[in-house]
Amino acid sequence: MSHDEPGFGVYIHWPFCAQKCPYCDFNSHVRFGGWDEPRYLAAYKRELDHTAHLIAGKPRTVSSIFFGGGTPSLMKPETVAAILDHIGALWPVAPGAEITLEANPGSVEAARFAGYRAAGVNRVSIGVQSLRDADLKRLGRIHSVDEAKAAVAIAHRTFDRVSFDLIYARPEQTLESWRDELAEALAMARGHLSLYQLTIEPETRFADLYAKGRLVIPAAQDAHDLYELTQELTAASGLAQYEISNHARPGEESRHNLLYWRYHEYVGVGPGAHGRLNAPDAHLATMTERNPERWLALVEEKGHGIADTESLSPAARADEMLLMGLRLDEGLDLDALARIGGVAPRPTVVSGLMSQDLIERLPARAASSEPGLDEIRACLGPGLAPAGVARPAPLGRIRATKAGRFLLNQLVLELSAGFDPVTPALHHDECAAMDNRPAAH
Ligand code: SF4
Repeated sequence: MSHDEPGFGVYIHWPFCAQKCPYCDFNSHVRFGGWDEPRYLAAYKRELDHTAHLIAGKPRTVSSIFFGGGTPSLMKPETVAAILDHIGALWPVAPGAEITLEANPGSVEAARFAGYRAAGVNRVSIGVQSLRDADLKRLGRIHSVDEAKAAVAIAHRTFDRVSFDLIYARPEQTLESWRDELAEALAMARGHLSLYQLTIEPETRFADLYAKGRLVIPAAQDAHDLYELTQELTAASGLAQYEISNHARPGEESRHNLLYWRYHEYVGVGPGAHGRLNAPDAHLATMTERNPERWLALVEEKGHGIADTESLSPAARADEMLLMGLRLDEGLDLDALARIGGVAPRPTVVSGLMSQDLIERLPARAASSEPGLDEIRACLGPGLAPAGVARPAPLGRIRATKAGRFLLNQLVLELSAGFDPVTPALHHDECAAMDNRPAAH
């Protein structure tokens, strides 16, 4: 997806897993008695209807759909097909829209891949997590390395686009062992690979073990070295880093996740799903009830399970956009930040971080900084754009350096504390973002 393509995504959260992994803080739940899938399907449809109603009034075209979880590969292919049909009845879906489903690599899930493809899924993201059986066990995973490899092979035969995830900086992991394992993974990977560092998340079983000293993860410097090795090996094999934890061949990036990081619009449906909606009167952050049964009951009672809606101020949107944009190798578009949030990072803060080699400046994208006159006229109205519209000099982009990417939270705090108000000469936010063209032209 080019930076200038419209972005409107639909995220569907499936909340159930076969087991709870000890490191996981996602909204995932185990139900040994199963679940009433037709009832959940009806609820997804109703919540989609409600969300479409919230943002009615401007035409939108769906550019990506993502089934995340939880373990969406526990869903029946017919359920996935029915949800996709319903989305297609609410909004036009762009030809070639990316439709991703997260899958676990168990043999049961892999046997469903053909059904997902028939349903319309065209990309899978498989939670391999490790290519070492002992580590899979330690991570609490119930699949084996052989099953994972078989699932990736079946996925490659079934889908044009396949990604899989690994977790590194695991207990006792050395540079040598990670070098070997990552080399194996790179030999298996085609277009996309997600490589996450193990972090200890609050209220997980790993947090408990860590607090008691029964789980030891690599020290900060060792984790940093593992990260550096990861960048070196992925870049050498043509799967360059395009986001902190994501690597792809050019054109194989996850379009749906890029939509989050570029701060475009998306609907979030299902238990614990988040959305960012450009409603007629406000920019809304929505979050649904996390507990699956309570969400189901809410939808059946009220037509939606949205538990929290916040109207985002320009300042709040600027903070979110900064947090997302700095994750990207392409950097954060300061012109888009000015349009959406009415702010720019204070030059002294930027130069201070540049002198520490934590961020760098990049030129503006030609397309993002120089909208054509036709586009300006369309925005201002017929006859309103003067023949020689004066554009302010583009603000360009900033990007976290290699060192800065390891200190992202600190960068975000410093930059956001030093925002200065700016008034873009041509304010395109209302006419570009609200009508489903990207806020960054
Ligand atoms: S399978 Fe994934 S979502 Fe489910 S508990 Fe494990 S890590 Fe969390």
